[in-house]
Amino acid sequence: MLKALNKNDSQTLMKYVSERSQEISADILMAATRIIDQVRNDKDAALFELTRQFDGIDLKNLQVSEQELDEAIRQCDPAFMEAMRRAKENIEFYHQAQKQNAFLLQKEMNIYLGQRVIPLDSVGIYVPGGRAQYPSSVLMNAIPAHVAGVKRIVMVTPPGPNGTIHPNIAYAAKLAGIQEIYKVGGAQAIAALAYGTPTIRPVDKIVGPGNIFVAAAKKLVFGKVDIDMIAGPSEILVVADQGANPKYVAADLLSQAEHDPMACSILISTDAKLVDLVNAELKAQSAVLPKREIVEKSLADHGHSIVCDTIEEAIEISNMIAPEHLELMIADPMSALGLVKHAGSVFLGYYTCESVGDYFGGTNHVLPTSGTARFSSALGVDSFIKKSSYLHYSKEALQTYGEMIVKMAQEEKLDAHANAILVRLNDECA
Ligand code: NAD
Repeated sequence: MLKALNKNDSQTLMKYVSERSQEISADILMAATRIIDQVRNDKDAALFELTRQFDGIDLKNLQVSEQELDEAIRQCDPAFMEAMRRAKENIEFYHQAQKQNAFLLQKEMNIYLGQRVIPLDSVGIYVPGGRAQYPSSVLMNAIPAHVAGVKRIVMVTPPGPNGTIHPNIAYAAKLAGIQEIYKVGGAQAIAALAYGTPTIRPVDKIVGPGNIFVAAAKKLVFGKVDIDMIAGPSEILVVADQGANPKYVAADLLSQAEHDPMACSILISTDAKLVDLVNAELKAQSAVLPKREIVEKSLADHGHSIVCDTIEEAIEISNMIAPEHLELMIADPMSALGLVKHAGSVFLGYYTCESVGDYFGGTNHVLPTSGTARFSSALGVDSFIKKSSYLHYSKEALQTYGEMIVKMAQEEKLDAHANAILVRLNDECA
């Protein structure tokens, strides 16, 4: 049952969502720091030792061989493989459109300036391998990196119970064209990617979700390398009109609630009757879900509903909350899209449930959480490029504008800056 809130409480809800970011306790940060130090000191030996300690596996090799990969892939279900291939096509199709062009501007006196777009040299993708496996995350992280032009994409994932890579993860990696895969997880994998060992060369950026030890380690190595984000618990907000089917609305809210007892599901509707029907559906549908316990806790603690007068008002509240996923289950979603200012990703109409985007549609499923959609974006090609500017002044241009630059440098009391211009101007006068 969703907790009914008055629309005037929406500010409280916004505060609540934005304060749900993943807090990492001092104990966990200390544990991650110790692991990172151990890897920095003992390198590969630390990776073997920590994998024994935390995963209970005595590894022979860290790197997954081509043969091991192919053997794992042979165990995959062909229908799953076909679905993954289609998803890959869709994800590539969308991310190709995100590529940015360089530009070159030309001005008088042979002045020219511009910006180049350069892919990162190397990226490490963390793929969780503890309690569950997420092959879709491999595609969502690796494909934008490929499209951006990153040459070296490394994947790390904890070894499975028998010391091998999970077949579905192996297939996702092969499909995404990842050629360097290591069976190591947790904070030790993040440390290896950031600082390097004789087997695992360091990378420039680390992306991908993981448990609290992984998140703590990413936070600690940030600065040595770039990271994508420290994601908080997941959230969905559904804006529904009287035409929405309560069965569908409930199913979509539950699809988020099953992630985690901390996941947040919010329904904003212009129809009070629909909210009652959705509550009844939530009860009926959750009763038969395998993850019933998680779902019920999540809905009881973090499920909310608000009734509004208009769709405009509903979207205004949604903008305050800035949800990770926003579903517009309304008659004309495209005309309302322009009103949405803050949302990680928007799913339009009665038939585009979030699951379509999570797996298949092509848009990225790595999205800003905890209200950070106010200022940040989904993972994409941009996450794997950097921009570098350049500038050219001819002799004539420097003679024309040099005095102005000198004046600005002198006002900032940076005489050496002024002098770099003056030596050239004076040379010309000589
Ligand atoms: P994981 O791969 O993140 O963590 C497993 C590793 O943690 C182990 O290999 C081990 O080395 C380390 N570890 C375990 N216990 C430890 C301890 N006591 N001290 C130090 N290290 C320890 O897999 P997981 O644990 O299943 O967690 C996966 C996480 O990823 C979940 O929290 C899930 O919610 C999250 N996730 C998020 C998204 C998203 O898009 N936000 C997607 C997929 C998964």
